Amino acid sequence: MSGWNHVYPWQQNVWSDLIKRHHVHGLPHALMFTGPKGVGKHALSLQVAQWLLCSRRVSDNLEVACGQCHSCQLWAAGNHPDFQQCKPEDGSRQIRIDGVRKVNEFLVQTPQISPCQVVILAPVEVLNNNAANALLKTLEEPPGESFILLETERLGSVMPTIRSRCQRLTLVAPPTADSIQWLQQQGCDEHSAAQALRMNQNAPLAALEWIQNDAHGQHRKWLAALQQWSTGQAPLDSTLAVWKTDDLGDVLEWLSQLLSDLMRASMGATVEQLIEPEVLGCFDVAILDKAKLLALHERITVALGQIRSGASFHNRQLLLESLMIEWQSLVTIAGRS
Ligand SMILES: [Zn+2]
Repeated sequence: MSGWNHVYPWQQNVWSDLIKRHHVHGLPHALMFTGPKGVGKHALSLQVAQWLLCSRRVSDNLEVACGQCHSCQLWAAGNHPDFQQCKPEDGSRQIRIDGVRKVNEFLVQTPQISPCQVVILAPVEVLNNNAANALLKTLEEPPGESFILLETERLGSVMPTIRSRCQRLTLVAPPTADSIQWLQQQGCDEHSAAQALRMNQNAPLAALEWIQNDAHGQHRKWLAALQQWSTGQAPLDSTLAVWKTDDLGDVLEWLSQLLSDLMRASMGATVEQLIEPEVLGCFDVAILDKAKLLALHERITVALGQIRSGASFHNRQLLLESLMIEWQSLVTIAGRS
Protein backbone atom coordinates (compact mmCIF):
# COMPACT_ATOMS: atom_id res chain seq x y z
CA MET A 1 0.00 0.00 0.00
CA SER A 2 1.74 3.15 -1.17
CA GLY A 3 1.50 6.28 0.88
CA TRP A 4 0.76 8.31 -2.19
CA ASN A 5 -2.60 6.63 -2.45
CA HIS A 6 -3.72 8.62 0.54
CA VAL A 7 -2.31 11.99 -0.35
CA TYR A 8 -5.01 13.73 -2.34
CA PRO A 9 -3.94 15.31 -5.64
CA TRP A 10 -4.35 18.84 -4.29
CA GLN A 11 -2.10 18.00 -1.32
CA GLN A 12 0.86 16.63 -3.21
CA ASN A 13 2.78 19.92 -3.26
CA VAL A 14 2.13 20.41 0.44
CA TRP A 15 3.35 16.87 1.01
CA SER A 16 6.56 17.39 -0.96
CA ASP A 17 7.21 20.63 0.92
CA LEU A 18 6.73 18.86 4.24
CA ILE A 19 9.23 16.16 3.33
CA LYS A 20 11.77 18.74 2.14
CA ARG A 21 11.26 20.76 5.28
CA HIS A 22 11.85 17.69 7.39
CA HIS A 23 15.07 16.88 5.58
CA VAL A 24 16.41 20.41 5.98
CA HIS A 25 15.28 21.46 9.47
CA GLY A 26 13.31 18.55 10.86
CA LEU A 27 9.56 18.94 11.28
CA PRO A 28 8.44 21.08 14.21
CA HIS A 29 7.29 19.06 17.20
CA ALA A 30 3.95 20.83 17.25
CA LEU A 31 2.43 21.25 13.82
CA MET A 32 -1.05 22.67 13.34
CA PHE A 33 -3.00 21.97 10.16
CA THR A 34 -5.58 24.64 9.41
CA GLY A 35 -8.09 25.06 6.60
CA PRO A 36 -11.80 24.69 5.90
CA LYS A 37 -13.81 21.57 6.63
CA GLY A 38 -13.43 18.90 3.98
CA VAL A 39 -10.10 20.01 2.55
CA GLY A 40 -8.29 16.93 3.88
CA LYS A 41 -6.56 18.06 7.09
CA HIS A 42 -7.13 14.78 8.87
CA ALA A 43 -6.14 12.64 5.91
CA LEU A 44 -2.89 14.56 5.67
CA SER A 45 -2.11 14.45 9.37
CA LEU A 46 -2.69 10.67 9.35
CA GLN A 47 -0.36 10.41 6.40
CA VAL A 48 2.32 12.42 8.17
CA ALA A 49 1.87 10.31 11.31
CA GLN A 50 2.27 7.03 9.44
CA TRP A 51 5.34 8.35 7.68
CA LEU A 52 6.98 9.63 10.87
CA LEU A 53 6.35 6.28 12.54
CA CYS A 54 7.55 4.14 9.62
CA SER A 55 10.62 2.15 10.71
CA ARG A 56 12.23 2.36 7.29
CA ARG A 57 11.73 6.12 6.87
CA VAL A 58 15.17 7.00 8.25
CA SER A 59 17.18 3.94 7.15
CA ASP A 60 15.90 4.05 3.56
CA ASN A 61 15.39 7.80 3.40
CA LEU A 62 11.77 7.28 2.31
CA GLU A 63 9.47 10.08 1.21
CA VAL A 64 6.34 8.04 1.91
CA ALA A 65 5.64 5.37 4.52
CA CYS A 66 6.84 1.97 3.22
CA GLY A 67 3.57 0.22 4.03
CA GLN A 68 5.40 -3.00 4.87
CA CYS A 69 7.48 -2.65 8.01
CA HIS A 70 6.22 -3.75 11.41
CA SER A 71 5.26 -0.17 12.20
CA CYS A 72 3.27 0.23 8.99
CA GLN A 73 1.52 -3.10 9.59
CA LEU A 74 0.46 -2.07 13.07
CA TRP A 75 -0.64 1.24 11.63
CA ALA A 76 -2.80 -0.50 9.06
CA ALA A 77 -4.29 -2.67 11.80
CA GLY A 78 -5.18 0.50 13.74
CA ASN A 79 -3.15 -0.70 16.68
CA HIS A 80 0.11 1.23 16.85
CA PRO A 81 1.67 1.53 20.33
CA ASP A 82 3.52 4.78 19.49
CA PHE A 83 0.47 6.59 18.18
CA GLN A 84 -2.42 8.22 20.00
CA GLN A 85 -5.41 10.29 18.93
CA CYS A 86 -6.94 12.88 21.21
CA LYS A 87 -10.48 13.98 20.38
CA PRO A 88 -13.74 14.66 22.24
CA GLU A 89 -15.00 11.66 24.18
CA ASP A 90 -18.25 10.13 22.97
CA GLY A 91 -21.19 12.32 23.79
CA SER A 92 -19.06 15.39 24.45
CA ARG A 93 -18.23 18.29 22.19
CA GLN A 94 -15.16 19.24 24.19
CA ILE A 95 -11.70 17.82 24.74
CA ARG A 96 -11.31 17.73 28.50
CA ILE A 97 -8.31 17.60 30.78
CA ASP A 98 -8.42 13.78 31.13
CA GLY A 99 -7.83 13.46 27.40
CA VAL A 100 -4.80 15.77 27.53
CA ARG A 101 -3.43 13.99 30.61
CA LYS A 102 -3.46 10.74 28.63
CA VAL A 103 -1.44 12.48 25.92
CA ASN A 104 1.07 13.81 28.44
CA GLU A 105 1.45 10.40 30.08
CA PHE A 106 1.85 8.74 26.71
CA LEU A 107 4.55 11.12 25.54
CA VAL A 108 6.84 10.65 28.55
CA GLN A 109 7.20 6.97 27.64
CA THR A 110 9.82 5.89 25.13
CA PRO A 111 8.77 4.72 21.67
CA GLN A 112 8.23 0.96 21.52
CA ILE A 113 8.89 0.16 17.88
CA SER A 114 9.09 3.41 15.91
CA PRO A 115 11.73 6.14 15.77
CA CYS A 116 9.29 8.52 17.52
CA GLN A 117 5.86 8.93 19.04
CA VAL A 118 3.01 10.79 17.35
CA VAL A 119 -0.20 12.29 18.69
CA ILE A 120 -3.00 13.72 16.58
CA LEU A 121 -5.18 16.16 18.47
CA ALA A 122 -8.35 17.40 16.77
CA PRO A 123 -10.20 19.62 16.65
CA VAL A 124 -8.02 22.00 18.63
CA GLU A 125 -10.74 24.62 19.07
CA VAL A 126 -12.76 22.34 21.34
CA LEU A 127 -10.06 22.03 24.02
CA ASN A 128 -11.61 23.46 27.16
CA ASN A 129 -9.52 25.85 29.28
CA ASN A 130 -8.14 23.28 31.69
CA ALA A 131 -7.26 20.92 28.89
CA ALA A 132 -5.55 23.69 26.92
CA ASN A 133 -3.51 24.72 29.95
CA ALA A 134 -2.46 21.13 30.57
CA LEU A 135 -1.22 20.93 27.00
CA LEU A 136 0.90 24.10 26.99
CA LYS A 137 4.02 22.68 28.58
CA THR A 138 3.96 19.61 26.35
CA LEU A 139 3.68 21.79 23.27
CA GLU A 140 6.55 23.94 24.43
CA GLU A 141 8.94 21.13 25.31
CA PRO A 142 7.68 17.86 23.90
CA PRO A 143 9.44 15.05 25.71
CA GLY A 144 11.88 12.89 23.74
CA GLU A 145 11.35 12.39 20.05
CA SER A 146 7.69 13.13 19.67
CA PHE A 147 5.36 15.00 17.37
CA ILE A 148 1.98 16.51 18.06
CA LEU A 149 -0.15 17.11 14.98
CA LEU A 150 -3.11 19.40 15.60
CA GLU A 151 -6.05 20.18 13.34
CA THR A 152 -8.45 23.10 13.28
CA GLU A 153 -10.94 24.67 10.91
CA ARG A 154 -11.50 27.58 13.27
CA LEU A 155 -8.09 29.05 13.91
CA GLY A 156 -9.65 32.20 15.37
CA SER A 157 -11.23 30.13 18.15
CA VAL A 158 -7.96 28.47 19.17
CA MET A 159 -6.42 29.95 22.32
CA PRO A 160 -3.52 32.28 21.42
CA THR A 161 -1.25 30.47 23.91
CA ILE A 162 -1.79 27.25 21.95
CA ARG A 163 -1.48 28.92 18.55
CA SER A 164 1.80 30.59 19.41
CA ARG A 165 3.39 27.28 20.40
CA CYS A 166 2.66 25.54 17.10
CA GLN A 167 3.93 25.97 13.60
CA ARG A 168 1.08 26.30 11.19
CA LEU A 169 0.39 24.66 7.89
CA THR A 170 -2.58 26.05 6.01
CA LEU A 171 -4.43 23.84 3.57
CA VAL A 172 -6.50 25.58 0.93
CA ALA A 173 -9.21 24.29 -1.35
CA PRO A 174 -7.94 23.52 -4.87
CA PRO A 175 -9.21 25.53 -7.87
CA THR A 176 -12.85 24.70 -8.64
CA ALA A 177 -12.06 23.10 -11.99
CA ASP A 178 -9.63 20.68 -10.34
CA SER A 179 -12.15 19.83 -7.65
CA ILE A 180 -14.87 19.18 -10.21
CA GLN A 181 -12.52 16.91 -12.12
CA TRP A 182 -11.65 15.00 -8.94
CA LEU A 183 -15.32 14.64 -7.99
CA GLN A 184 -16.08 13.34 -11.47
CA GLN A 185 -13.35 10.74 -10.96
CA GLN A 186 -15.24 9.70 -7.83
CA GLY A 187 -18.34 9.13 -9.93
CA CYS A 188 -20.19 12.44 -9.46
CA ASP A 189 -21.73 14.30 -12.38
CA GLU A 190 -20.47 17.76 -13.20
CA HIS A 191 -23.60 19.66 -12.21
CA SER A 192 -23.88 18.05 -8.75
CA ALA A 193 -20.15 18.49 -8.24
CA ALA A 194 -20.31 22.22 -8.95
CA GLN A 195 -23.32 22.67 -6.73
CA ALA A 196 -21.84 20.64 -3.86
CA LEU A 197 -18.63 22.65 -4.03
CA ARG A 198 -20.56 25.92 -3.82
CA MET A 199 -22.38 24.65 -0.73
CA ASN A 200 -19.14 23.53 0.92
CA GLN A 201 -16.66 26.36 0.52
CA ASN A 202 -15.11 24.56 -2.45
CA ALA A 203 -13.73 21.83 -0.20
CA PRO A 204 -13.67 18.60 -2.27
CA LEU A 205 -14.10 16.05 0.55
CA ALA A 206 -16.97 17.97 2.11
CA ALA A 207 -18.56 18.21 -1.33
CA LEU A 208 -18.19 14.47 -1.88
CA GLU A 209 -19.77 13.71 1.48
CA TRP A 210 -22.56 16.14 0.67
CA ILE A 211 -23.34 14.27 -2.54
CA GLN A 212 -22.98 10.80 -1.04
CA ASN A 213 -25.29 11.61 1.87
CA ASP A 214 -27.83 13.18 -0.46
CA ALA A 215 -27.50 16.33 1.58
CA HIS A 216 -28.83 18.22 -1.41
CA GLY A 217 -32.10 16.30 -1.29
CA GLN A 218 -32.30 17.00 2.41
CA HIS A 219 -31.49 20.65 1.79
CA ARG A 220 -34.30 20.97 -0.77
CA LYS A 221 -36.77 19.43 1.68
CA TRP A 222 -35.61 21.88 4.28
CA LEU A 223 -35.92 24.83 1.94
CA ALA A 224 -39.46 23.77 0.99
CA ALA A 225 -40.43 23.44 4.65
CA LEU A 226 -38.96 26.83 5.43
CA GLN A 227 -40.86 28.38 2.56
CA GLN A 228 -44.13 26.90 3.81
CA TRP A 229 -43.49 28.14 7.30
CA SER A 230 -42.65 31.60 5.97
CA THR A 231 -45.95 31.88 4.16
CA GLY A 232 -48.00 30.41 6.98
CA GLN A 233 -48.85 27.22 5.05
CA ALA A 234 -47.28 24.92 7.62
CA PRO A 235 -46.89 25.02 11.41
CA LEU A 236 -43.49 25.48 13.00
CA ASP A 237 -43.45 21.88 14.25
CA SER A 238 -43.40 20.42 10.78
CA THR A 239 -40.57 22.73 9.69
CA LEU A 240 -38.47 21.74 12.68
CA ALA A 241 -39.36 18.07 12.16
CA VAL A 242 -37.51 18.12 8.84
CA TRP A 243 -34.31 18.97 10.75
CA LYS A 244 -34.84 16.45 13.51
CA THR A 245 -31.92 14.23 12.63
CA ASP A 246 -29.57 16.95 11.38
CA ASP A 247 -26.62 18.19 13.36
CA LEU A 248 -27.45 21.56 14.93
CA GLY A 249 -24.23 23.06 13.56
CA ASP A 250 -25.17 21.96 10.03
CA VAL A 251 -28.65 23.43 10.35
CA LEU A 252 -27.21 26.76 11.48
CA GLU A 253 -24.64 26.63 8.68
CA TRP A 254 -27.44 26.24 6.13
CA LEU A 255 -29.41 29.07 7.66
CA SER A 256 -26.34 31.25 7.63
CA GLN A 257 -25.69 30.48 3.96
CA LEU A 258 -29.31 31.18 3.10
CA LEU A 259 -29.20 34.57 4.80
CA SER A 260 -25.88 35.41 3.14
CA ASP A 261 -27.38 34.58 -0.23
CA LEU A 262 -30.45 36.71 0.42
CA MET A 263 -28.27 39.63 1.52
CA ARG A 264 -26.11 39.30 -1.56
CA ALA A 265 -29.17 39.04 -3.81
CA SER A 266 -30.74 42.10 -2.21
CA MET A 267 -27.56 44.01 -3.02
CA GLY A 268 -27.79 43.02 -6.65
CA ALA A 269 -25.55 39.94 -6.81
CA THR A 270 -25.99 37.80 -9.90
CA VAL A 271 -27.19 34.21 -9.78
CA GLU A 272 -23.62 32.96 -10.34
CA GLN A 273 -22.48 34.77 -7.21
CA LEU A 274 -24.93 32.94 -4.97
CA ILE A 275 -24.19 29.74 -3.09
CA GLU A 276 -27.66 28.32 -3.72
CA PRO A 277 -29.48 30.16 -6.54
CA GLU A 278 -32.66 28.19 -5.80
CA VAL A 279 -33.39 30.49 -2.88
CA LEU A 280 -34.40 33.19 -5.32
CA GLY A 281 -37.35 31.07 -6.39
CA CYS A 282 -38.39 30.53 -2.78
CA PHE A 283 -38.29 33.99 -1.27
CA ASP A 284 -39.02 37.47 -2.49
CA VAL A 285 -35.81 39.36 -1.92
CA ALA A 286 -37.44 42.74 -2.60
CA ILE A 287 -39.62 42.61 0.51
CA LEU A 288 -36.97 41.50 2.99
CA ASP A 289 -36.15 43.75 5.90
CA LYS A 290 -32.39 44.08 5.49
CA ALA A 291 -31.64 45.36 8.97
CA LYS A 292 -33.47 42.39 10.50
CA LEU A 293 -31.74 40.08 8.06
CA LEU A 294 -28.34 41.29 9.23
CA ALA A 295 -29.32 41.01 12.88
CA LEU A 296 -30.52 37.43 12.44
CA HIS A 297 -27.39 36.52 10.51
CA GLU A 298 -25.27 37.90 13.32
CA ARG A 299 -27.22 35.89 15.90
CA ILE A 300 -26.73 32.70 13.93
CA THR A 301 -23.02 33.40 13.46
CA VAL A 302 -22.57 33.78 17.22
CA ALA A 303 -24.47 30.56 17.99
CA LEU A 304 -22.54 28.72 15.29
CA GLY A 305 -19.22 29.90 16.68
CA GLN A 306 -20.19 28.63 20.13
CA ILE A 307 -21.25 25.24 18.82
CA ARG A 308 -18.21 24.76 16.63
CA SER A 309 -16.02 25.67 19.62
CA GLY A 310 -17.44 22.89 21.72
CA ALA A 311 -20.43 24.43 23.52
CA SER A 312 -23.32 22.04 23.95
CA PHE A 313 -26.81 23.32 23.34
CA HIS A 314 -29.31 21.52 25.52
CA ASN A 315 -32.05 23.86 24.38
CA ARG A 316 -31.74 23.05 20.68
CA GLN A 317 -35.50 23.14 20.12
CA LEU A 318 -35.82 26.50 21.83
CA LEU A 319 -32.97 28.01 19.86
CA LEU A 320 -34.37 26.86 16.53
CA GLU A 321 -37.91 27.96 17.41
CA SER A 322 -36.77 31.45 18.31
CA LEU A 323 -34.65 31.73 15.16
CA MET A 324 -37.61 30.64 13.06
CA ILE A 325 -39.92 33.16 14.66
CA GLU A 326 -37.39 35.90 14.01
CA TRP A 327 -37.04 34.67 10.44
CA GLN A 328 -40.80 34.70 9.88
CA SER A 329 -41.13 38.26 11.13
CA LEU A 330 -38.47 39.28 8.67
CA VAL A 331 -40.11 37.75 5.61
CA THR A 332 -43.77 38.37 6.36
CA ILE A 333 -44.19 41.65 8.22
CA ALA A 334 -42.17 43.41 5.57
CA GLY A 335 -44.30 41.66 2.98
CA ARG A 336 -47.58 42.95 4.41
CA SER A 337 -46.41 46.51 4.69
ZN1 LIG B 1 7.01 1.40 7.11
